[in-house]
Amino acid sequence: AKEAGRNVIRFFDPKMQTSIETRAAIEKDLRIALEQHQFKLYYQLQVDVAGRPQGVEALSRWVHPTRGMVSPLQFIPLAEENGMIIFIGLWVLETACRQLVAWQENPATRNLRLAINVSARQFRQPDFVAQVQAELLRTGADPAKLELELTESMVLENVEETIRKMTELKALGVRFSMDDFGTGYSSLSYLKRLPLDQIKIDQSFVRDIATDQNDAAIVQTIIAMAHNLGLEVIAEGVETEVQRAFLEQRGCRAYQGYLFGRPQPVEELERSLLP
Ligand code: C2E
Ligand code: CA
Ligand code: CA
Ligand code: CA
Repeated sequence: AKEAGRNVIRFFDPKMQTSIETRAAIEKDLRIALEQHQFKLYYQLQVDVAGRPQGVEALSRWVHPTRGMVSPLQFIPLAEENGMIIFIGLWVLETACRQLVAWQENPATRNLRLAINVSARQFRQPDFVAQVQAELLRTGADPAKLELELTESMVLENVEETIRKMTELKALGVRFSMDDFGTGYSSLSYLKRLPLDQIKIDQSFVRDIATDQNDAAIVQTIIAMAHNLGLEVIAEGVETEVQRAFLEQRGCRAYQGYLFGRPQPVEELERSLLP
């Protein structure tokens, strides 16, 4: 009966049961995925105002032997809960650094920056700074080409620790970008204390930018604020020329989104870049 309440009904929902089983199964598989080399990095282009490639964002993919491609939206939160994200994060860091070194050889890829997503749990590791430093040294990657994407919520968890670690990493020469900007609760007062290089306008504001006056106003404010703080700004989720032109008109001069390319395997990315 309805009076039994939502929680009781949902508890017996067979669909819910399936998803709990799937979750458990995925979590079990996650533990062996790294050893069996089932993760892959896809790369999505970031372009400047003239459409020239300026960098890429690395996005993790899990090619499961029977499930096929598992979305990071599914496995990253699970990996964060069970701690696997620390090992996945190290693998991403190492793979990205090796990729940067490989790209150094070719004029068509030499100047690309490579951004990786850093999870809160990984960043909070006491030896995170040392891990990044060790990987840069081991691979010989140019720190100035490595960009770490942080989110507002992880920064807010412990602002003092965050500033200390970011400052140490900054001294190594890496770049910082604030991901999903506008969705969190950043206040200007601490934003200006962080050694950031770039702010990434979240795709939820870009989507209806040309039709929704609130989104347009928010984007305009973010761009103005970034510029006042001396930060670069990039918009993500740019799918149409209308959105791109709108962003350009308001001073945003870097873009990422399906309009310029989907996340793709490195071979495909290189094919599109090499002459
Ligand atoms: P994110 O960092 O905000 O990455 C952007 C997401 O938007 C990606 O989803 C990308 O494929 C998608 N996207 C890019 N352009 C467009 C567009 O024009 N339109 C639309 N609708 N979507 C676009 P993806 O690859 O599924 O990744 C989802 C999230 O998973 C990422 O969001 C990030 O938070 C997380 N993630 C992915 N890889 C990693 C990783 O290696 N480490 C960590 N910690 N998180 C990761
Ligand atoms: Ca990101
Ligand atoms: Ca994002
Ligand atoms: Ca996001």
